[in-house]
Amino acid sequence: MKFDTKVIHSGSESVDPTYNSVNTPIYQTSTFKINSPEKHSKFQYARTSNPTRADLEQTIAQLENAEYGIGFSSGVAAIDAVLKLLKSGDEVITSKDLYGGTYRIFNGIFKNFGIRFHFVDLNKTDEIISHINKNTKAIWLETPTNPLLNIVDIKAVSKISAKYQLKLVVDNTFASPFLQNPLDLGADIVMHSTSKYLGGHSDVIMGALVTSEKTLADKLYFIQNASGAIPGPMDCFLTSRGIKTLHLRMQRHCDNAKAIAYYLKSHPKVEKVYWPGFSGHPQHELARKQMRNFGGVVSFALKKNKEDIAIEFIKKLEIFTLAESLGGVESLVGHPASMSHASIPKAKRKKMGISNALIRLSVGVEDAEDLISDLKNALV
Ligand SMILES: *Cc1c(COP(=O)(O)O)cnc(C)c1O
Repeated sequence: MKFDTKVIHSGSESVDPTYNSVNTPIYQTSTFKINSPEKHSKFQYARTSNPTRADLEQTIAQLENAEYGIGFSSGVAAIDAVLKLLKSGDEVITSKDLYGGTYRIFNGIFKNFGIRFHFVDLNKTDEIISHINKNTKAIWLETPTNPLLNIVDIKAVSKISAKYQLKLVVDNTFASPFLQNPLDLGADIVMHSTSKYLGGHSDVIMGALVTSEKTLADKLYFIQNASGAIPGPMDCFLTSRGIKTLHLRMQRHCDNAKAIAYYLKSHPKVEKVYWPGFSGHPQHELARKQMRNFGGVVSFALKKNKEDIAIEFIKKLEIFTLAESLGGVESLVGHPASMSHASIPKAKRKKMGISNALIRLSVGVEDAEDLISDLKNALV
């Protein structure tokens, strides 16, 4: 089945045997009747499993060409579950260029439980290999990265993880399964914040993991049930509903982002545009090979003639809304220096390339001309 058909027909079609509803109902129940103590039914208690959730988990798995899907109450709850596969003394190799919330749970929580994290440049094989020792258990990567849209070579990293018998975990939130499928490139687990493109309407917080390895899936289902950070049936319903238009939305996100990237590049007040579709992007060839399109996020730096130039620009926008998050139908604007990356000291931030003049756009699916004219009016 092709992707566009899968987004609509994945999951279990006959979830509702009583009324044959075409869509999966919201099973708003905490428990299920057990017909007899000797013969347990499929669903018993809704922390362990719920039909609305099970259907969505199967859908997300199928979109990532995986066997198993495991749903969580947020993206970070999914990250939390992966880290609970580890034990004190274990080590993880990850990127310097990481989603802020991922860095926070690594360094602010699991470090205190004796897990060690090494932050390296994952496009440098030598740097990865020099950090591998007998305690290393996993490599955690994210691509494209936030907010500078660097691309990490999943296949190249997976060769290292396979050689040293490490688990490779890929956060595929920014790309979505429409643009890339990390399991096909050698990853062991794919993680999603479905709060972004999969849900797609900025109305639900949820996360998910997928894998095709049965032993990993069994451990993750155990953690899901034992730790209990599960999504509710309404959240699962909203995410399932969002997924049905993922292919349509992603195509428009990519088209609009491309139009905006070219517009900004030509503007005299813009210093630099970060978008992997430009041939001058440092990993453009890799992006072309690894991804099916270049995504819906565009970042750019304004020419800095005063300190708060980005803030002044943002205040003039009318269609783009200043808000955290990305991947919804509506266009959002973010200011990494004062929002997602505010907790990083200014000097370190600057070294990472995140100046006060940097702006991140989550380009929505509105009319591209309206979006460009909004940017144009704010750039005068
Ligand atoms: C948003 C996000 C997360 C965290 O997900 P939540 O659903 O907000 O908990 C993790 N990784 C990336 C890349 C994200 O954008």
